[in-house]
Parts: sequence; C-alpha cells; structure tokens
Amino acid sequence: MGRLFTMAALLAAGLLAAPVQAAETKPDTAKKAAETKGEAKAGAKSDGGTKRRKFEMTEDQRESLEAFVLGNTLFVVFHEIGHALVDQFNLPVLGREEDAVDSLAAILMLPEDEEGEGDPLIANAVLGWAFTLSDETPTAEAYMDEHSLDQQRFYQIFCLVYGSSPKGYADLAEYLEMPKDKLKRCPSQYAQTYDNWWKALGPDVAGKGFKPKHKVKVSYGSAKGDARDAGKIVREAKLFESVAESLTETFRLRRPITIRFEKCGIANAFYRPEEGDVTICWELVDSYHDGMVGAYKAIHREEQKALKAEERKKAKALKAEQGKS
Ligand SMILES: [Zn+2]
Repeated sequence: MGRLFTMAALLAAGLLAAPVQAAETKPDTAKKAAETKGEAKAGAKSDGGTKRRKFEMTEDQRESLEAFVLGNTLFVVFHEIGHALVDQFNLPVLGREEDAVDSLAAILMLPEDEEGEGDPLIANAVLGWAFTLSDETPTAEAYMDEHSLDQQRFYQIFCLVYGSSPKGYADLAEYLEMPKDKLKRCPSQYAQTYDNWWKALGPDVAGKGFKPKHKVKVSYGSAKGDARDAGKIVREAKLFESVAESLTETFRLRRPITIRFEKCGIANAFYRPEEGDVTICWELVDSYHDGMVGAYKAIHREEQKALKAEERKKAKALKAEQGKS
C-alpha cells in the first residue's frame, strides 16, 4: 500500500517530538518513568552517538509515543461520543453523519483557551491520519461508504485544527505541504463549524449549578497480549476519566454513556445505539502504538547501520595506518 507520509519521515523532521514537549496533559507514567529510569537512560543516550546498542526507546521517544497513542485514541473517542450525542439529543445532521461527527470531535477536542499554541494531542491525531493515507485509487466501495475518503477526512479535520490557530499549527501545515491558498479559508471554516455545533448543542448544554443525572464512564477490558503496552499507556494517563468527567458536566445527558476499551478482534471503534455505549477496540489503540514503535525501530536500524559503516571505515583506516609503520 502506498503511503503519502511515513511516520519515520515525520519523526525525523521532529514534528512528532516538538508538539509533545508542550504537552500539558503529561501522563503520570512518563513522569514516573523519568524519575526511576531517567539517569540510566540519559547515560545511554549520551553514548548513543558512538556506541552500537540494542533498541531501547529514549525518554523523549517514550513521551512522544504516549502523546501519539493518547492523541489518536482521544480523537476516536470524541468521534464516537459525537455519534452518541447526535443520537441522544436528536441533533439534525445535514449531510453525512460521519463527516459531522469528525468535525464535532475536532471542536470538542480543541482547547478553548488556546493562545496561539498548538495542542499536542490533536496535532498527534492529525499526524496519525496522515500516516494512514494511501495513494491508491479508491474503489467503488470506498466512494459509496458512509465515511468520506480517508484523504477527505484528513484534510477536513486538518483544516478545522489549523483554522482554530493558524499560528499554532503553521509548522504542521508546512510539513504536510498543505496548499497555501486553501489554508486561507480554514479559520472561517473553523469559526462556522464551531458556532453551528454549539448552536445545535445549545439546549443540551448544562447551565450553572446543573446536577448531572447521567454520567459518562470509562471501563477497561483486559488488554493482555499484543495490546498490553498500549493499554497501559491509556489506563495510566487517566486522560479518559477526565474527559468523561468534563462531558458529564458539560451536557444534559439523557442517558448514561460508557466508553468501553475492549478487545474486538478488529482495529476499530463503534457507537452502539442499543446500549448507548462507545466501544474502542484495544486493537485500534495498539495499531497507533505499533506504528510508532515500528518507526522508532526503523530509525534505530538506520542509525546502527550508519554506525557499523563508520566502525568499518575506522578499522580500515587503522589497518592502513599500521601497515605503513
Ligand atoms: Zn463514525
């Protein structure tokens, strides 16, 4: 499958690492890991340039990985929550529901009090989309699907994100080679989408002193096996609990919503109208984790190759030197 952007290229360009450093929602896991292993890792890192070593992620890579997994998973959660809100509140959907909840997810996920700085989690979600793009010609099934083409979804989501803060996402736009003249319409696209969503949601938004009757809850099924590491990141971040809490406080829910993380045998996510629940498959979360770790491993392999070549060159030069004397 042809890919328009590769994760390794984005990592090499520093795009994934940069926004992550500004992360306010730095997961506890990253902090703990830094406390316990920080020094040993720092030592290994300074050696990294000259010594050949086995693959082991640096602290920076671990933090970037966490932000990537969390950012992409969070977008999916908001997308599915979008379906739940459309259903619960009987919101009018003019156009395709899948596109509508993509834009709702972006609106809900973008921070309100942003002052020109990009949000690392949503930047990671945009990059996650970029990695999955294929340059293959779409099939009839893809055109008929309830979802727009991945390319369209990616550009639409990007435009809203960029439109919310052109300064904050300028680097992202440049790296992703977004067409400059099209970028100009993104701020008004974002403003219109934002206004219209909050207008539509207005009657269901909780006022001051509102006591929630129903809650959004999070439940974690076992992530044993392949998804163990990804599952650990999601659980330990406690991000989804705080999202659930803020959803509970923001809306006058008519029925409870449980965000279920569970194994489904497929890398996907669903809204189940019968139960009103949202399911996020561990396999999907794991695909973000795997993609990123795979990219780090590829970078590591390249580094090791270069080191080997360097060592060989040095040894050869030394031999030649010894031969002379
Ligand atoms: Zn959907």
